[in-house]
Amino acid sequence: MTVAATVRAMRRAGAAGQPVPADEVAAWARTFMIQLYGPQKPARLECRPKHSAEPWMQAEDGDVVRARRRGLDIRALYLHPKPEKPTKAHRFRDGNCRDCGDGEFYAGPNCEPPTPTPDSRAALPFDPTWFRAPLEALIQVATHRFIGVPDSMKWKSEARYLLERLDQYDKETLA
Ligand SMILES: [Zn+2]
Repeated sequence: MTVAATVRAMRRAGAAGQPVPADEVAAWARTFMIQLYGPQKPARLECRPKHSAEPWMQAEDGDVVRARRRGLDIRALYLHPKPEKPTKAHRFRDGNCRDCGDGEFYAGPNCEPPTPTPDSRAALPFDPTWFRAPLEALIQVATHRFIGVPDSMKWKSEARYLLERLDQYDKETLA
């Protein structure tokens, strides 16, 4: 899970308005801890007197270790990873993306439309099986009639190649 995917899931859950199972919330928290904080050390630690609105000051090690005794609030500042540039941007119209259907207020940075299953057969103006019989007949003719050895070899090999391609095409498109 990436941070972007987690935020997207959280915003979707918020938009749905239903309670979210504790397992899911724990998984989101885990992703944030690992992705945002886990591998990093704070770039800077700052402190200020508890319950105050004073400006944050650079904290010494002792301030962090003895924060409670010194009555200090401590905050750790991290260098956050920069958000990635979206690979594909949403195209919003009337509050929803025209490509993936996500709502504008909960969509993540990337547009990930569901991939439609391509039906390449529907695009063909003919049925590939029509070629099978003529190609098989061509092999028979080239084998049994005298048309000269080079021609016979050539047509047999071309017809077999085309039949193999047809088999391959059937395997890929009829699976
Ligand atoms: Zn989209």
